[in-house]
Amino acid sequence: MIDAAQLAANWTAVRRRVDEACRAAGRDPAEVNVLPVSKTFGPEVVRAALVLGLHRFGENKVQEIREKAAALAGETIDWVVIGHLQTNKAKDVARVASEVQSLDRLELAEALHRRLEAENRTLDVLVQVKTAREETKHGLPGEELPAFLERLRAYPTLRVKGLMTLATQSDDTDEVRACFRHLRELRDGCAGQGHRLPRLSMGMSGDFPLAIAEGATEVRIGTAIFGSRSNPVA
Ligand SMILES: *Cc1c(COP(=O)(O)O)cnc(C)c1O
Repeated sequence: MIDAAQLAANWTAVRRRVDEACRAAGRDPAEVNVLPVSKTFGPEVVRAALVLGLHRFGENKVQEIREKAAALAGETIDWVVIGHLQTNKAKDVARVASEVQSLDRLELAEALHRRLEAENRTLDVLVQVKTAREETKHGLPGEELPAFLERLRAYPTLRVKGLMTLATQSDDTDEVRACFRHLRELRDGCAGQGHRLPRLSMGMSGDFPLAIAEGATEVRIGTAIFGSRSNPVA
């Protein structure tokens, strides 16, 4: 397990690099949040991060959130779902998640809405858009976004705050950056139709400066904060 001093050093370094990327892009560092991605790391690692003042964590499996939340009962933690969600997980999501960034289809919106109504709560959501070339990457096709946002108006428990994407994994920075630019342009296009989508969640450990240059308001960082993951994750 990563020790507390290393974790603190990583966190400071990441925040500094984010601030530098903001300044290089002529942006105010206060506009860009870092979402620490704790997937595959155990509750002790999350506890060490809590000591640093972090309290919001990205996870890609609902079962993993449930286990960590149980182990960390008594702590105030916002769990953010960033991974592909099966519709049959909606009930657990409605109970344990503070936010979902991977909303990519109506069937899931419908299921979440029904469960949230039953729990008498609302949920912040980002719509995940597919901007990457890889077939394995999830997300709504960009051209379907305007109609999708219209349909989401039927689910008032879902508070749509913005968009999320994963860029193509490539050494070609132009290609990676084009994914991020595409998300921003889609957002700007939807603004004309009355959809306010202030948040853009894009950029990970390997590509966040490019995302910040294209307008990210949130970067999702795992490896650069917590170290490499032993078990591979999709
Ligand atoms: C794992 C993951 C991240 C973080 O990736 P790193 O490269 O470790 O920073 C970001 N977003 C999503 C959707 C992920 O699944």
